[in-house]
Amino acid sequence: MENAASRLADVRANIAKVCKPARREPAEVTLIAVSKTHDAPEIQPLIDAGQRVFGENRVQEAQAKWPALRAAHPDIELHLIGQLQSNKAEEAVALFDAIHSLDRPSLLTALAKAMDKAGRRVPCFVQVNIGDEAQKGGCPLADLPAFLEAVRAADVPLAGLMCIPPADTEAAPFFALLAKLAADHGLTGLSMGMSGDYETAVMLGATHIRVGTALFGSRG
Ligand SMILES: *Cc1c(COP(=O)(O)O)cnc(C)c1O
Repeated sequence: MENAASRLADVRANIAKVCKPARREPAEVTLIAVSKTHDAPEIQPLIDAGQRVFGENRVQEAQAKWPALRAAHPDIELHLIGQLQSNKAEEAVALFDAIHSLDRPSLLTALAKAMDKAGRRVPCFVQVNIGDEAQKGGCPLADLPAFLEAVRAADVPLAGLMCIPPADTEAAPFFALLAKLAADHGLTGLSMGMSGDYETAVMLGATHIRVGTALFGSRG
């Protein structure tokens, strides 16, 4: 993993390169290093290279890996990027600094309750089913206005919107749609873009990009 630092430098350089024509500052873009399936010895070089924001998609996996890694670096931020079951809400609230997959009323209720109980409010992105795909997670487009209202009423900190565009198709129109929806609802946070399309996402306003493979190599 001696390549971790150079991969990180490459991704950061690519972000800076597209920020310029987009008239954005690289500091406006939070790079979330998605470390799912990678173990501590693979993660440590990125921490050593200065990366401080990481993403995991499973509560249990994160619980197993991160307390030890974080003990040495209390400034590390951990984001939950994967689907969350309501019965794991308490554990998620205890462990994560942001949740990117709030997508349904039952989960909202569970998270609000968990945050009250913990006395800790965790910023949440509402995940939008941007391609209206039957099997995909995310709030249906038609339900979004009412759901955002419910999130606000529940006093759950609303960080912005998140999406995973349909596979095997041009992502840009979906990123543009998510940006428009966020603007329509007065939201500034945009969690969009992965290894294959983060530059496009940054051009279209992403504030949080979730990059795994480009930093860690393939997940095997
Ligand atoms: C795994 C994952 C990513 C990172 O994907 P890469 O293609 O490896 O960059 C981003 N977002 C979500 C929701 C993921 O599950």
